[in-house]
Amino acid sequence: MNEGNQKYLNTFGVYVHVPFCSSTCDFCAFYQERPSKKKFETYFLSLEREMQRANINKKVDTVFIGGGTPGILRSDELMKLCELINGLGIKENAEWTVELAPNEVTTEKLTVLKSAGVNRISLGVQTFDPKLMDDLGRKHGPEKVFHAYNLIRETKFNSVNLDLIFGIPHQSLEDWMSDMEQAVKLQPQHLSTYCLTFEEDTALYHRLAKGELKIDIQREASFYEYAWDFLPSSGYEQYEVSNFALDGHACVHNQNTWKMNEWIGFGPSASSQYQFKRWKNPSDLDRWAIGVRDGFKTQDYEDYVELSNVILAEDAILFGLRMNQGIRLAQIGKRFGLSEDFLVEIHCFFDNLQKEGLAVQMDGWISLTSQGRIRADAIATEFPSESKGLS
Ligand code: SF4
Repeated sequence: MNEGNQKYLNTFGVYVHVPFCSSTCDFCAFYQERPSKKKFETYFLSLEREMQRANINKKVDTVFIGGGTPGILRSDELMKLCELINGLGIKENAEWTVELAPNEVTTEKLTVLKSAGVNRISLGVQTFDPKLMDDLGRKHGPEKVFHAYNLIRETKFNSVNLDLIFGIPHQSLEDWMSDMEQAVKLQPQHLSTYCLTFEEDTALYHRLAKGELKIDIQREASFYEYAWDFLPSSGYEQYEVSNFALDGHACVHNQNTWKMNEWIGFGPSASSQYQFKRWKNPSDLDRWAIGVRDGFKTQDYEDYVELSNVILAEDAILFGLRMNQGIRLAQIGKRFGLSEDFLVEIHCFFDNLQKEGLAVQMDGWISLTSQGRIRADAIATEFPSESKGLS
């Protein structure tokens, strides 16, 4: 892969949130609603308005439709959604991803998506183990995953990602190995492996709070380490803490975000970063629809931050460090106009990490070692922030 740090420095992304799920998985903290005809009408009317009013002055390099479960929409609704997105001005070779849950994949929907310009599917597998699927509150067995995957491959998308979760309660290292082996056997172009997090207000969090479940940090570290050994030895280059890809299939949408470029999110709970502002739409269909209709004031957003170059630079450093290639501090300093004093302070910070075996500095690049990447969140909290505004 070895993509230079210059790649994806000026890309522009669009994210569309489809906030509907037929049931709620036990680990899920994403904003989602039960579908209904009225809610779909509200959604599409407001989405069209929101897109018409967006002040986008450049062509789109990457589109990501996530949720919720976008696949819950009927084929004609998916077609309408894609038409709206195409109206934003999508570059000819843009990466265009749609997240699908195994239950909702049909040939008809895939054909509609492909003909509209979608070239990448991200399938929410999580695990192939029926018992663990049940523990996560997934309402299907592994046969649904294989069926969906076969339909996706038959429709011939350029790239397919499988999402996997590890650190599930009662999951052994052997279970995790078996999930990884099964995923590799299917030969998708991309794999995302996420450590289960216990987000507030999820069913799993409540079980944790009641003492029914325990977090085992050592066990999580061993799961990370196994993935970081096994997947590269199976041909999937690791390019970020949680992401692995065959050559040429690293996700442009992810990199656009990590490099602190611009993107606009549409739909309830969607986040945006555009023209030195970062904001999050309300995670509520009706409040979002009212905001779109009447025009959002800053206080109507769930989050709203005015961005300085220092905030963007610090985020580019911290997100960049999660990537295996790391960062070129001089290039980030130049791009965002960081002061010499601050650059010296950052260099000292990395010198100390290097002494602890957590970072490597070579040829102008700074990257974390495996041990450093496992501690990436802790390193981020220790970073000598000038802005105190990191999100
Ligand atoms: S994990 Fe995905 S399918 Fe499950 S409730 Fe959350 S958004 Fe819906």
